[in-house]
Amino acid sequence: MSESKPSFISGVLRMKCPHCGKGSIFVHKSVFPLKTCLRTHEKCTECGQEYTSKSNNAPGMNYALTSVAYILCFVAYALIFGLSYYDNSIYYALIASTAVILILQPWLMRLGKVIYLYIFSRSDF
Ligand SMILES: [Zn+2]
Repeated sequence: MSESKPSFISGVLRMKCPHCGKGSIFVHKSVFPLKTCLRTHEKCTECGQEYTSKSNNAPGMNYALTSVAYILCFVAYALIFGLSYYDNSIYYALIASTAVILILQPWLMRLGKVIYLYIFSRSDF
């Protein structure tokens, strides 16, 4: 049963079915148009694995993922440009991190949904 499952990292990055690793999860490959970027197939086109669960907590996963990404952006800004108590660099870091996270949000939402599916639909078997 477990020999056909794809590895977590490659499966998440390719956004393929958590059960067989072949069928794509999302209807559209691109995040554009943004209106339909989170639209998923109801079942895997290859193996029939359902992508919807009763306790859909993918937004919670997106919140956690966004928080981690925000902290990483802030640390990256601090490492690249430096932070100081004597100027407004902390505010610039916060504004830059917020802008980056807002721009990356469609991809983060997709990634959160895929990670959620990989964690919780795999444990059903
Ligand atoms: Zn599948």
